[in-house]
Amino acid sequence: MQKQAISTKPIRSLEDALDKCQILGMRVSRQRRFILELLWQANEHLSAREIYDRLNHQGKDIGHTSVYQNLEALSSQGIIECIERCDGRLYGNISDSHSHVNCLDTDQILDVHIDLPEDLIRIVEERTGVQITDYSINFYGYRQTENGDGVKK
Ligand SMILES: [Zn+2]
Repeated sequence: MQKQAISTKPIRSLEDALDKCQILGMRVSRQRRFILELLWQANEHLSAREIYDRLNHQGKDIGHTSVYQNLEALSSQGIIECIERCDGRLYGNISDSHSHVNCLDTDQILDVHIDLPEDLIRIVEERTGVQITDYSINFYGYRQTENGDGVKK
């Protein structure tokens, strides 16, 4: 990777996320750990409501307010991802730049790390006069079923 090798190494696991909290001097409360564990297990983008429901379903003792406050703290520190959607915020475990595949049938958002070819980036720079330093792409499509048939609507 030719990205800057400063202390801002990407978070690639639950352990990385916990380390990052420590580096930033954030207290890792039980509740905060619950949320991080859930996001790394789930590996999908969830709303605060879904996170609350799932944790309580697992028998974890955490209140609404605590879920909201911890999500806010974790996302503002760049430890988790926060996506603004028209129907509310969604939270994900990957905080460095990545692209999304939006499933139009299941309404899921999948994370994907994509490197665009250099010449494509060059074209964007030429057309806009902006030097590209980062990007995140939104892909849209329909899930394929197990047997390989496209799901048609
Ligand atoms: Zn994401």
